[in-house]
Amino acid sequence: MSLGIRDISNKPRLLPGTSACPGCPENIALKAISMALGENAVFIVVAGCSSIIQGMGPKSTYNYPVLNIAFAAGPAAAAGMAKAFKLRNKDIKPVVWAGDGGTADIGFASLSGAAERNDNILYICVDNEAYMNTGGHRSGSTPFGAKTASTPGGKKENKKDLPFIMIAHHVPYVATASVGYLHDLMDKIKKARSIEGFSYVQVLTPDPYGWMFDPSKTAELGKLAVQTCYWPLIEYENGKLFISQESMHCLDKRTRKPIKEFLKLQGRYKGVSEEVIRGLEDYIDRMWERIKSIYEGKVIL
Ligand code: SF4
Repeated sequence: MSLGIRDISNKPRLLPGTSACPGCPENIALKAISMALGENAVFIVVAGCSSIIQGMGPKSTYNYPVLNIAFAAGPAAAAGMAKAFKLRNKDIKPVVWAGDGGTADIGFASLSGAAERNDNILYICVDNEAYMNTGGHRSGSTPFGAKTASTPGGKKENKKDLPFIMIAHHVPYVATASVGYLHDLMDKIKKARSIEGFSYVQVLTPDPYGWMFDPSKTAELGKLAVQTCYWPLIEYENGKLFISQESMHCLDKRTRKPIKEFLKLQGRYKGVSEEVIRGLEDYIDRMWERIKSIYEGKVIL
């Protein structure tokens, strides 16, 4: 079921005047997500840029109840809250809001535990592919060849495949989204919120400072990531994999936009070798072969 205009709150709960950098993708994502969630939510914010964007109490820019917490503890705290809400008959699914570092690396143990227990929480990973709050270091989610503060010569390994790792936990709902396609993002958040049990949404949030591009191009990079098939828009629900309309062209290699279109706007790939470009193309090819096999029912998850 697609999201209609009446399903969206016209009051974003992220208040204006945040301390985020210009063009911040997390601001865009949070504004859209709050319009999909409406009023009935509590946030557990894992350490990162979002904790800074939130600002000092009592003048927080998040117009939600917020618990700030250390990297490794977000899902555990949310699980406790979910149990408490249930005992009090409150229909609130706690939302964990974490970056890729807090998800793929430091916070992974408690994330995996909450998924395995099927705790009734919504986990949102805002994936800017680096530890941006500490100056843009390599994370498990940084892609092959990207230059970061700790990989000045380009990362040697591929991006960790978090959405499929979460699917392997057999949770009710896993989805990917991008700030380039906000309607799709809001649609998935609304669904993830409504499903009983653990749901996980990973949002690609191109970061003007870590990726080194003009801050006016955040949404454009979010779109190019999808159009070049670097970032698939997918959903996993009740054991089935679905591909969002914006990514359907990726099933056929011939209709994918060249990855160079995505890379050429980013300083982190400036002067990159043909070998790195081929490595990224291989990564995309293999990822889509796997998605296609699951989508066509040749591989059962
Ligand atoms: S570093 Fe990136 S994620 Fe952090 S506030 Fe700036 S633009 Fe937003």
